[in-house]
Amino acid sequence: MTPEPLVSIDPTRVPSFQTAAKLLLNDSQLRKNVRHATGVIQARRKLVTEELPDWQELRESARQIKTHTLQHLDRYLEDFERNCTRAGGVVHWARDAAEARKIAVELVQQSASGEVIKIKSMTTEEIALNAALEAAGVRVYETDLAELILQLGRDLPSHIVVPALHKNRQQIRGIFEREMSLPNLGERPADLAEAARTFLREKFLRVKTGVSGANFLIAETGAVCVVESEGNGRMCLTLPGTLITIAGIDKVIPSFRDLEVFLQLLPRSATGERMNPYNSIWTGVHAGDGPRAFHVILLDNGRTGILADEKARETLHCIRCGACQNACPVYRQTGGHAYGSVYAGPIGAILTPQLQQMEHARSLPYASSLCGACYEVCPLKINIPEVLIHLRHQVVELETRGLGALNPEAVAMKLMASVFASESRFRAAQRLGRMAEAPLAGRDGWIRWLPGVLGGWTAVRDLRRMPKQTFREWWEQRGESDA
Ligand code: SF4
Repeated sequence: MTPEPLVSIDPTRVPSFQTAAKLLLNDSQLRKNVRHATGVIQARRKLVTEELPDWQELRESARQIKTHTLQHLDRYLEDFERNCTRAGGVVHWARDAAEARKIAVELVQQSASGEVIKIKSMTTEEIALNAALEAAGVRVYETDLAELILQLGRDLPSHIVVPALHKNRQQIRGIFEREMSLPNLGERPADLAEAARTFLREKFLRVKTGVSGANFLIAETGAVCVVESEGNGRMCLTLPGTLITIAGIDKVIPSFRDLEVFLQLLPRSATGERMNPYNSIWTGVHAGDGPRAFHVILLDNGRTGILADEKARETLHCIRCGACQNACPVYRQTGGHAYGSVYAGPIGAILTPQLQQMEHARSLPYASSLCGACYEVCPLKINIPEVLIHLRHQVVELETRGLGALNPEAVAMKLMASVFASESRFRAAQRLGRMAEAPLAGRDGWIRWLPGVLGGWTAVRDLRRMPKQTFREWWEQRGESDA
């Protein structure tokens, strides 16, 4: 039986990264929007990280906290459950997306609310919660500005932190004009923000159930922390009578004090801000203040599988800041939709194949030039290139399983090894290569098409013609002429 896909976009129906990227590269407006937005965020990030004298120490502390937490994840999750329950919260455990959706839908129905207001949450995107709620007759309102744009535009997120980053002002204005019936809407940021505010305000005041994700779960106190910039999160967390939080089990940190590290790293890496304008931390329920019922759904959905893989485990260190996406030269050209997953960019290229058990996301570990820009900016120092190579190895294993000695890649490697092992064979191969490429090269010295399996190379890049003379030949000739 085929396991249920673990990420919301049906991976059996999305094309491979390479196919999707080729199509999206034709959209020059999208490329312009993505390059502009990521460029602005990168410049801000650079400024606010360089001004901190202990930035590298902060990164190292965060890494150590995460490594320690993952080593004792069972203990910290149980601590969180105990302390959250003691404070009046109810903790639910979900093995996979289907279980999490079932619990969430039942809780919303129990709250006797036909509507929910939501804070931006990649975890709820991961489990396709909106579709499940709507199938159960519940109306969902996204309240984060970018998520609202996507919901009204029937679009998908393309960035972890700035989900509508692929849209420009004119496009957003078009969506609001159509969906909010505002024919005279201007396109200044203030006009768009005002339209969203007016649209959402009465929902904040009317809707009785809120749904959120979590940036951090604090084991020591059972508290949940959400950081955001717009204030919509604060409204969703305080106004409804019932609050349901859905969080991956990797979001737990041991103590309140650890926030000191993460609340410096996250905003600086994510949006280039020194501090998030809204940092909400709440613990259970309190009479006369905030929601009267509070539920936390702790989601596994493949995470314990990642934890079990020693070489890929550090994927779970991720705090979803999106800095790797902004720095990635591949993401900056294709945008997020090419990844066919709610998690795009370098983190998506390592997280999605693991959440989808590799079967449906084999092309993603190749969506990288391995330049290392993601590793350099990652506040948790996640060695994404190394995890990518590890996953590529798994893809090759999967694709060549059962081929044994007939595995074409293994045959080609053996042949190469034999050529590189002997000078005469290497020189003969060079001569042969020069002869073979002659009819394929253009007048400008570039080869743009190769036959058969070699065509995989020229499908995405041109090949320079070999020089008429190698360095070694030139050196030998020079020696002769000197003598
Ligand atoms: S992998 Fe690192 S840079 Fe990328 S989103 Fe996660 S924490 Fe941020």
